[in-house]
Amino acid sequence: MGTNNSKNYIGRFAPSPTGPVHYGTLVAAVGSYLQAKKNNGEWLIRMEDVDTLRKVDGADNGILRTLESFGFEWNGEVLYQTKQIEYYEQALEKLISQSMVFPCLCSRKQLSKTDSKLYPGTCRQRSLSEKKEHALRILSQDIDIKFNDAVMGSHSQNIEQQCGDFIIKRRDGLFAYQLAVVVDDAMQDITEVVRGTDLLDSTPRQIYLQQLLNYSTPVYCHLPLAIDNFGNKISKSEGAPKVDIKNKEKLLIKTLNFLGQQPPDDLVESHIDDIWLWAIKHWEIKRIPKVEKRKAL
Ligand SMILES: [Zn+2]
Repeated sequence: MGTNNSKNYIGRFAPSPTGPVHYGTLVAAVGSYLQAKKNNGEWLIRMEDVDTLRKVDGADNGILRTLESFGFEWNGEVLYQTKQIEYYEQALEKLISQSMVFPCLCSRKQLSKTDSKLYPGTCRQRSLSEKKEHALRILSQDIDIKFNDAVMGSHSQNIEQQCGDFIIKRRDGLFAYQLAVVVDDAMQDITEVVRGTDLLDSTPRQIYLQQLLNYSTPVYCHLPLAIDNFGNKISKSEGAPKVDIKNKEKLLIKTLNFLGQQPPDDLVESHIDDIWLWAIKHWEIKRIPKVEKRKAL
């Protein structure tokens, strides 16, 4: 879709501006950054603010300032999903022209009464000229989507049996994450997606959309998710604490250990720039623990 004909490595870090940087965010930032640097690639930042109901004013700047303080260096302008709406519309039109989209009027309550977790296909025959307020769903097909994750290994889902007809535009008019992320990754020519395993199960849906939209599929690399002592994901929604920039050296070392990189004990005494130099030089993706969740060290 873009112009990256030579397929130079382009990676990205895509936080949602819903709060400050917590440890879970830092793991994804460090993992994606080191993969890009090790591959002499570019590292782009995208603010995933498509869900405007969840976004917090000023959180985007807070995240960028924290990344700067850690010494992350990104390429180009930060991309905001809220500036991409016209491209999401174009992708939607393309899917509509393939007769792959239908309006869904089902309420959450109606759907919760069905036995299956999957959408039962109730509205499949509805016309796109539907006037009542509706979401838009993509038709699922009996297709196995397989991919080989660079950390987690082979992963496969049948779109019809395991994903069902999923939402690409919400009833409130906002585009769904699954469509937005696929359009953005294509437009930014992303060659490898490094992110947490909480998105591992979303990947086949994204590849399905890439195939329908005739986009290339990047390499995927899912990092273990940092969990707390109670097994909960360390995230903004769980009220995780903001990373303390005063301890940036310790936090970076802790993150390297979390990602299986085994930095020497005395590296923590070094300047943050020297920790980065060590980390880029010694980064090995194969050392990342092949587990979906890992207790934050
Ligand atoms: Zn429906």
